Amino acid sequence: MSKKNKHSPSKAKTKTKVEPFWQTKTLAQMTRAEWESLCDGCAKCCLHKFIDDENTTDETELKPTTHIAQGEQMSYSNIACHLLNDKSCQCSKYEQRTELVPDCVQLTQENLDDVFFMPPSCTYRRLKEGRGIPSWHPLLHHGKKSAMHQAGMSVRGKVIKDNDVELEDFEDYIVLWPLHDID
Ligand code: SF4
Ligand code: SF4
Repeated sequence: MSKKNKHSPSKAKTKTKVEPFWQTKTLAQMTRAEWESLCDGCAKCCLHKFIDDENTTDETELKPTTHIAQGEQMSYSNIACHLLNDKSCQCSKYEQRTELVPDCVQLTQENLDDVFFMPPSCTYRRLKEGRGIPSWHPLLHHGKKSAMHQAGMSVRGKVIKDNDVELEDFEDYIVLWPLHDID
């Protein structure tokens, strides 16, 4: 009679843990699809920001700028671009955005140095500063944005559109919440 040993060791199943791309690659090494997927969709970058610049003249006031000089401070407002869908937090004209809104900042791997224009919670900025992606990021929630909205990290329910206000009155709309970050 043959006997089988119930306790004989079975073949060990070894699973290799795959590290997520944002932990193994630099921003510059990512593919286009990986880069795009990092955007959390918070839409904080669609808010109007203002820089208090001592050299501002009547001519340059409220005009777009591409730099911040040393000592200048950027303030966020709760005024959002008129093309933003403030419920989904998505651009309603994504493909034409740079034509329709010339100062729409499109962050790419080529202009990564402009990341300072992004809020502290922006995933690109977080990764550039070595802070990783936050626990509420859609990539950690099967692509869903609900954790981000619940954490209060998106603009949903907090903004007014720029075609509903006079930009000259921007000081009435300066807010601190876009600077908030968690994790
Ligand atoms: S702030 Fe950064 S992560 Fe958030 S929507 Fe804009 S680009 Fe994407
Ligand atoms: S054009 Fe679209 S992506 Fe650009 S600021 Fe406006 S809503 Fe945001």
